[in-house]
Amino acid sequence: MKDPKTYIRKNILALTPYSTARDEYQGEIGIYLDANENPYDNGYNRYPDPHQKELKAELSKIKDIPSENIFIGNGSDEPIDLIFRIFCTPGVDNAVSIAPSYGMYKVAAATNDVALTEVRLETDFSLDNNKLLAACNSNTKVIFLCSPNNPSGNNIPRAQIIKIVEKFDGIVVVDEAYIDFSEQKSLISEIELYHNLIVLQTLSKAWGMAGLRLGLAFATNITIQTLSQIKYPYNINGLTQKIVIEKLRKPIDNQVSEIIEERKKLISQLDELEIVKHIYPSDANFILVRFDNPKNIYSQLITNGIIVRDRSSIAGCENCLRITIGTPTENARTFETLKKLNNSGL
Ligand SMILES: *Cc1c(COP(=O)(O)O)cnc(C)c1O
Repeated sequence: MKDPKTYIRKNILALTPYSTARDEYQGEIGIYLDANENPYDNGYNRYPDPHQKELKAELSKIKDIPSENIFIGNGSDEPIDLIFRIFCTPGVDNAVSIAPSYGMYKVAAATNDVALTEVRLETDFSLDNNKLLAACNSNTKVIFLCSPNNPSGNNIPRAQIIKIVEKFDGIVVVDEAYIDFSEQKSLISEIELYHNLIVLQTLSKAWGMAGLRLGLAFATNITIQTLSQIKYPYNINGLTQKIVIEKLRKPIDNQVSEIIEERKKLISQLDELEIVKHIYPSDANFILVRFDNPKNIYSQLITNGIIVRDRSSIAGCENCLRITIGTPTENARTFETLKKLNNSGL
């Protein structure tokens, strides 16, 4: 069994975390004169729960995993940054990720002065494990994977990810921001078995809470404890905690299955158009589409009030636009517009 403790930087293991007023007294009722708050109740005059206990209890039910294995961050960007800080010594250690993929791994690596080696995916966006592991050396502390991957939309097969987790002597992070749209099962269930595995999820996509900023990390206790010790004490504000708890109690299933249906429909419609050269298979709420002349399509779509993401300058995504699946009306508008462009012989 790989013990994450052996991968944690010495200074992180040694530090004494900040102790909040709420850490030192945990009773429920009383006259609180311990945190220099304004005493007049306006709903938000008190500091929020630094441990997000109620929110974690709710997530624990939904994800079927103990609260001790859940870290809540201010978006996924927070755990991504903290992972670099916990496991990688600046200027010494390095990390390995895949390309093309989510841009924040690179930004967080650079911020922390950690070299990031990007392993190119194959032309069909599949991953070659041998290439990935060959890119690692004795100073590689973390591997970042993204499945379903942004911007390509495909999964890395579960069994393939597990092989990496088994073979790599370090931390493997799997970003599952789009897992709710996927047919593949989450790897959360594997954290009990693989202590070097960290799974990231978010409420920003399927759950419809991008504006509230709620990212999640699932891992073995020691990793979660370490993330919690070095985060800003009150990283999740009181308003977000309150609203997210309310929203988690309302199911989102219809929206997700509708988005998946709409994805299928849009793919089959776009497939008919001559201007569309290829649509990559997607397990996410977006599709990557290759055109002959993406810049032109992009600006024509904008002229028609439709904004997509131009990914054509990214290596491996040449000539591609990434289109998020919208409401049925929005998708119909997008198809009609592309059809019009198609028929105008663009
Ligand atoms: C959108 C996205 C996230 C979510 O980031 P948040 O900070 O939680 O909003 C994380 N990873 C990937 C790959 C994404 O595409």
